[in-house]
Amino acid sequence: MTGSLVVVGTGPGKAELMTPATQAALARATDLVGYGPYLDRVAAGRPEQRRHASDNRVELDRARLALSLAAAGRQVVVVSGGDPGVFAMAAAVFEAVEAGDPAWRTLDIRVEPGVTAMLAAAAEVGAPLGGDFCAISLSDNLKAWSTIERRLVAAAEADFVIALYNPASKARPRQLGEALELLRTRKKGDTPVLFVRAAGTAEAKVVSTTLAAADASTADMRTLVIVGASTTRQVGRWIYTPRGERGTS
Ligand code: SAH
Repeated sequence: MTGSLVVVGTGPGKAELMTPATQAALARATDLVGYGPYLDRVAAGRPEQRRHASDNRVELDRARLALSLAAAGRQVVVVSGGDPGVFAMAAAVFEAVEAGDPAWRTLDIRVEPGVTAMLAAAAEVGAPLGGDFCAISLSDNLKAWSTIERRLVAAAEADFVIALYNPASKARPRQLGEALELLRTRKKGDTPVLFVRAAGTAEAKVVSTTLAAADASTADMRTLVIVGASTTRQVGRWIYTPRGERGTS
């Protein structure tokens, strides 16, 4: 039997935000590989389906396990949160393919798109990503903090709306405070800042503030932070960024 590997994302949390294509891939799988809490979001599939739960910080080991299982003829699904290609397992799988057994390059590998946290968070508050935007992960586990600082400065100078993934964790309590300090030197104090926790779930919580008043301790590892562009504004109870920018330079 020929094996396959599909990398999927469960979406931000609630079942309705998992795509039907992802649900179909999960139902067909003989083996699910992923971080335990993401696997817990997946309903039981075929009775003989095996689950290989792992810790959060071992992405490459998990990718190699999934590739070995697919090479052995299993129908493997690797489960990420959100979209699997955004700061998640799809890239880890291709890193493992690049560094691993040359035979892995001929495997049947597919990626299914999912609803990423940034989109779910934006929808909770209105349309803050209505103009040009960028996404930056504040985790310096895999890149230097100086690289992150350089990108924050460039994003501020280009007046992008900035979505900040991985703003904080117990192991990295300082990053968001430093990032906000840096942005305060380049952007106006009244720029809207949104902390959206557990976006796209029943427990979603929004804190809407300004860059001057933003308190980094509002964010944890389930929070997506959106820092507005100069045109991002409030209308009624919503925050949005208009599509047009004629007249701004
Ligand atoms: N692949 C995931 C992102 C993984 S990085 C995706 O596409 O969404 C993990 C970070 O994503 C978290 O630290 C947090 O910043 C963000 N995140 C994931 N799910 C979230 C949710 N439901 N609400 C808010 N932020 C979330």
